[in-house]
Order: sequence, then C-alpha cells, then structure tokens
Amino acid sequence: MAVHDLHDGFGRSITYLRISVTDKCNYRCVYCMPEEGVAARGHDELLTAEEIARFVRLVANEGISRVRLTGGEPLVSHRIVPLVAALRAIPGIEDISLTTNGALLPHMAADLCEAGLDRVNISLDTLDAEQFSRITRLGRLEQALAGIDAALEYGFDPVKVNTVVVRRLQQDTFGLARLSVDRPVHVRFIEYMPIGNEETIGACKNEPHCPPGVSGSAPELHPEAWDASDIVPSDELRAQISAAGETAGIGPLLPVADGGPSGAGPAQYWRFAQAKGTVGFISAMSNHFCSRCNRLRLTADGTIRPCLFSDDEYPVREALRAGDDARVLEIYRSAIAHKPEEHDTTDGTARFMSQIGG
Ligand code: SAM
Ligand code: SF4
Repeated sequence: MAVHDLHDGFGRSITYLRISVTDKCNYRCVYCMPEEGVAARGHDELLTAEEIARFVRLVANEGISRVRLTGGEPLVSHRIVPLVAALRAIPGIEDISLTTNGALLPHMAADLCEAGLDRVNISLDTLDAEQFSRITRLGRLEQALAGIDAALEYGFDPVKVNTVVVRRLQQDTFGLARLSVDRPVHVRFIEYMPIGNEETIGACKNEPHCPPGVSGSAPELHPEAWDASDIVPSDELRAQISAAGETAGIGPLLPVADGGPSGAGPAQYWRFAQAKGTVGFISAMSNHFCSRCNRLRLTADGTIRPCLFSDDEYPVREALRAGDDARVLEIYRSAIAHKPEEHDTTDGTARFMSQIGG
C-alpha cells in the first residue's frame, strides 16, 4: 500500500512507470533508431539493476504500482531476469510487464516467467518476411512469430502485439488484426509518432532535410522523408480493418464491452465476433489521451522523463548512486509536479525512441 498517492499539477494520479533497461538493441527499426545504432554509453552511465530496483522501491511508496520494462531491447540486457525478480519482491508493485521485439523470448521466457514477469507486449509491424527485414533492418519475421508463440506457451497474460502503422509502408493491417481471431492475442495499432526527429513533422520531406540519396533509395524506409500524411488516424484504420473483416466473412469489428485486456492503458479495443483476442488502437497523434496519462519514464541513464514528447528531464542517477533517498524523492516529486498537461506532437524530440523507452 503506497504511503503517498502522488498527483500531478492536473490531478492525474501517477501509478505507472516505464523503465528503459538499455538503449541498445539487436534490431534497428527505421522509425526508432538510426541505422548505425546509438552511441554506446559507458557502463557507469547506465543504472545498474540494483539502482533501478532501489528507485522502484522508493516510488512504490509514492503510488507506483505498475512497471513496464522496455528499451532499446530489454532482452539484450544481461540483468533483465534478476531485475524482474528484484522488482517482484517490492511491496506495492502489482504488475510487471515487458515490451520486446520477441527475438530472444523463446530462450528467455521460462526464466522471465519464473522470475515473476506478468505479461509481455511483442512488436510486429508486418507479416511479410521481406518487409519485416527492411523495417527492422536486422530482424527476421520468424523470430517475432516464435516470440509470440513462446509468450502464449508460457502463459503470460495478456499477450499484446504492437504494430506501428505508417501509411507509406502499406502494411497488411487486416492480416495482422486477423492474428487475434485464432489466438488469444491483442493486436494494437499505434499511430507513428515523430520521436527522435527534431524537425517539425510535415516540414521535412526531401532535400535539403533528408540525407543524400533518400529520394533514390527506398524513400518509404526513411522517416526523415515521412510527413504528417503518413500518420494513419486510428478511426480511419479501424474502418478499413472492419470493412476488410466483413469482406472476408469474419464480420465487422465490434466494441469490446469490458474495455479490453488488463493493463488496457490508452488503447481502445474492438474485436471480431468469434475472435479469441481483440484489436486495439492507440491514437497518440489523432486523439491525445493526455488527460488520462498516469505514466512516467525512467531512461537507462537514470533520467526521469515526465512526458514522452517533451525533452524536460530530471536526472536521478547521482542521487541514487550517493544513496541519497531523500534527494531521489525530491527529484521524483518535482518531475511529477512538472508533468505537462498535454504533449505537443508537432515537434520531434532530441532522443530517439530507443533511448527514451517506448
Ligand atoms: N525493443 C522493444 C520493442 O520493439 O518492442 C521495446 C522498445 S520499443 C522502443 C517499444 C515500442 O515503441 C515498440 O512497440 C515500437 O514499435 C514502438 N515505437 C518505436 N518507435 C516508435 C515511433 N516512432 N512511433 C510509435 N511507436 C514507436
Ligand atoms: Fe529496437 Fe524496439 Fe526500437 Fe525496433 S522498436 S529498434 S526492436 S528498440
């Protein structure tokens, strides 16, 4: 039971912490990371598992009850399993989830399950093997599919699939939504967000903003060349998937009466009539859910970020390292007090998504 239940300046209760365990990744998804990866940080710049656990123990007393581990790719971090176990032991932490590209999940699902992980989200942007390799630059479709199978086999519940939708990638969104028919998975479509692109979305098309050669070399794979029309509003996508369902004889999408799977967050859930799972839509761009935002982020280098879209950051690493709990809490409360009322989606951010923790 939390000692305090911290509210921000707009009356929102802050209960959910997303922790980036590492900013490294075994993929290089075009919308998330540059092809060359991100500059490697010195070991001493990153929080250790003990420091992360210490932070969570402190903020569990301030109302945090749910934690998501993300990155970069959290499963490339050697400390992920001990970290899950340490978080599981913290009183007040009721729910521990993890977002992964799934590639390493078949090898790690058993250990994560034993350590006490409750549930997983797996990213999957396409069912076309070639397109998967192009979007992730280093990944293979069968890895993500095996990851989903492993998540189901080990009983993580719910299992959610995250798809970032970009108009010019022309993904087969109905094919992805259809995964929810035969399997108890919740396929969620996320509107692409211009994170890590400091240019104002819509202002950056081709030259002079884009790197040389973009227009000639598969421009659809260069976010620098994407513009506002590449964001597919959730309402439009839902109508398309629903119509495709009717054509395919599995019916239109129907609203989910109970709001959807646990940890529903900002997604709106729908389902095909006979489906085992659901189809969700996350409208970060077309319909802000800021008034209901209950989350805070902790980056791998020990910085609290009150809003994904704002570069306002509150470093806690030094205070954690010095064992100064009072100072850590002071910084934490200040971060909450400065959480913005809503996000400005017209500007990009200085850090890439993989460095913030999506
Ligand atoms: N590596 C893990 C993965 O891919 O699931 C966890 C980290 S990744 C940054 C977390 C989520 O953010 C993924 O579902 C990814 O698709 C999503 N994401 C990354 N960049 C994004 C962007 N620019 N807009 C919307 N979602 C994005
Ligand atoms: Fe890595 Fe996830 Fe970003 Fe893809 S979305 S590059 S898998 S961190």
